Amino acid sequence: MGQIIDGKKIAQTIKDELKIEVDSLIKDHGITPGLAVILVGADPASESYVKGKRRTCKALGIYAKDYNLVAETSEEGLLTIIEELNQDDSIDGILVQLPLPSHINEEKILLAIDPKKDVDGFHPENIGRMMIGMDTFYSCTPYGIIKLLEYCDISTEGKHVCIVGRSNIVGKPVANLLLQKHNLANATVTVCHSRTPDIGYHTRQADIIIAAVGIPELITKDMVKEGAVIIDVGVNRVEDATKKRGYRLVGDVNFEEVKDYVSHITPVPGGVGPMTITMLMFNTIKSAKNRI
Ligand code: NAD
Repeated sequence: MGQIIDGKKIAQTIKDELKIEVDSLIKDHGITPGLAVILVGADPASESYVKGKRRTCKALGIYAKDYNLVAETSEEGLLTIIEELNQDDSIDGILVQLPLPSHINEEKILLAIDPKKDVDGFHPENIGRMMIGMDTFYSCTPYGIIKLLEYCDISTEGKHVCIVGRSNIVGKPVANLLLQKHNLANATVTVCHSRTPDIGYHTRQADIIIAAVGIPELITKDMVKEGAVIIDVGVNRVEDATKKRGYRLVGDVNFEEVKDYVSHITPVPGGVGPMTITMLMFNTIKSAKNRI
């Protein structure tokens, strides 16, 4: 049986280290890291993500400034709040939970966030800095994936990594991070997407597969090389009458089919998910340290 990568445990180890850093920022420098968490509307998945972020802030001693805005909030209103937060010295990071209601231009909002407070790592300035290997905030899910591999002693150096999915928040940034001339990267990267004719042809050659598509169990055993490492980013709800809530969560990889065939695999839930929130905290603390 392949090793199940325990993202929850690894995330907790990193959070324990971060808590020590927060304590020392408070004690030695009088700095309490601050994160503004903005939720617009009442999408249940977004509400649950925001709840997790706020809970983690509290556990680490980070000040979470919460905004729960009605879905009818105007684009101008949201921009005003962001401008105030850009000027607020007690705030080190600004997180706007996506997706936003359709009348608000997401691009405009993300561009309005001061890149120095863009702890999600979505601002084009930070994406550009990441691409050319400059110090910046890395997007949280891609950075979480790199950290998972590091904690499991899985080297990417010279390995063939096949990424399925080319979104701006997962596929493209993780491809870029893995291409960096860095000992946690140096990979040969293939990126497959919705227009790739035969994904299996590429994934079968990969030492490491990163699936970030959003299609339940798209990656099956016949698409995987024996002994490969699987990082499953997908979080998909599938109907399940045996569950009280009527659904269960599955990834983009058919876990049951491949788990005995691969060397390592992340479960869904409990794999990449906990790392995303942890790296958001990491970025917020990194930003707070700029106040010293
Ligand atoms: P997205 O919808 O923005 O992008 C999906 C990508 O998959 C696209 O680039 C598209 O080209 C590709 N794609 C679509 N159909 C395909 C197909 N049939 N074959 C190959 N590629 C195909 O999604 P996203 O925001 O990158 O998220 C992907 C998944 O990861 C979702 O399930 C999302 O919920 C999950 N996610 C999880 C975390 C986490 O922290 N665990 C974070 C972000 C996203």
